Amino acid sequence: MDKIVALCKRRGFIYPSSEIYGGIAGFWDYGPLGVELKNNIKREWWKKMVYEREDVVGLDAAIIMNPKVWEASGHVQGFVDPLVECKSCHNRFRADKIVDFTCPKCGQKGKFTEPKKFNLLTEVYLGVTEPKQKAYLRGEITQGVFVNFQNVISSSRVKIPFGIAQIGKAFRNEITPGNFTYRSREFEQMELEYFIKPKEKEGEKTFVYWKEQRINWYKSLGIKSESLRFRKHADDERAHYARAAYDIEYKAPFGWSEFEGIHHRGDWDLGRHKLNYKDLETGEEYTPWVIETSGGVDRTALFFLLDAYSEEDKRVVLKIHPRLAPYKVAVFPLLANNQELVEKAKEVYRLLRASFFTAWDDRGNIGKRYFAQDEIGTPFCVTIDYVTIEDDSVTVRNRDTMKQERISIDKLKAYVKEKLEV
Ligand code: ATP
Repeated sequence: MDKIVALCKRRGFIYPSSEIYGGIAGFWDYGPLGVELKNNIKREWWKKMVYEREDVVGLDAAIIMNPKVWEASGHVQGFVDPLVECKSCHNRFRADKIVDFTCPKCGQKGKFTEPKKFNLLTEVYLGVTEPKQKAYLRGEITQGVFVNFQNVISSSRVKIPFGIAQIGKAFRNEITPGNFTYRSREFEQMELEYFIKPKEKEGEKTFVYWKEQRINWYKSLGIKSESLRFRKHADDERAHYARAAYDIEYKAPFGWSEFEGIHHRGDWDLGRHKLNYKDLETGEEYTPWVIETSGGVDRTALFFLLDAYSEEDKRVVLKIHPRLAPYKVAVFPLLANNQELVEKAKEVYRLLRASFFTAWDDRGNIGKRYFAQDEIGTPFCVTIDYVTIEDDSVTVRNRDTMKQERISIDKLKAYVKEKLEV
């Protein structure tokens, strides 16, 4: 974990937010490579959940909504974590995270206050004159979907069963942010709300279907099966809206940890917002049930980084899926002081850059450049050498195998493209 945190800072994936002023607990900034990784994750998710399906449409709702939404959704009352305080060191912890009645900070056993409940919604105040209007930064992106349920139905051609997908920021006043970006106060979620008929069988079938879809998505992007598992929520653990809930967990250095929840929300939300669905063919009217898949972009990014990180004999290499890698390809002139090589390399760089996010490096020797790219997960490195000047071919070196191939420049784009589609 420490190595990943250091790598993220050193190479521009993730920095502590407002660091020059001492930082602020629970907030993180994504650097030049981090923003690429996050965008790639979101793009892959959107492709799978929206573009490849005929039954899902997208949405991008506002972060601040009428506060009545959060009263109706139950969050003002029910979005709480029970906290206990250690009487010895006075640190506060989530009651459900205390193992064996032992304080995770000072090690004292059994000296806790009674659990007290704290609401996780972040309050904001709108307007310039008093009294200002109290509102909330959304604690989950989900509600934006429910309050637009009618709008989407009347403005698009969706029919039940169908889904609405959304990616966006959420905010929680987490009492104990920690484990790097794992528990932040500002984070991004990627969610699908899938609306179905309120029938037990349909609910079960759809729930199982989405559980499988979601875990397979992580596997398809390279997370090792043995690092993934489902965990069923116990009855007393489920959120106030859930009829059934499973987490997809990753075997992180700090233990098995949730990064996506699959929730059967039943008719809780649409019911609370008093929204119904009318089947125009049969005339049937009902409150649909909702199966939700709710993943975190930041936790996903962190787990992809952890899973990809490997140390080999002489190098650190991020074996991240090529479609998630920030740079797809890097271009080097063999020698930085040879005008002819540099010019040719720039030509190749521009050619590739038009299609793929491409790095340029002419510092140090080729070996060092390879290692620098390995560490940030660049799948291919292209070197322009003296043979290139003669026959327009380049060497392409593969990150994972370290093998090199000679490829002609006119086939280079197709070569990288094909590998990215794997
Ligand atoms: P936890 O039990 O870890 O607090 P949760 O069960 O409250 O998480 P959900 O409400 O199901 O989380 O949110 C869905 C997803 O949003 C989570 O699986 C996670 O990826 C992401 N998420 C939730 N809270 C945070 C947070 N504080 N920081 C980063 N991501 C988060």
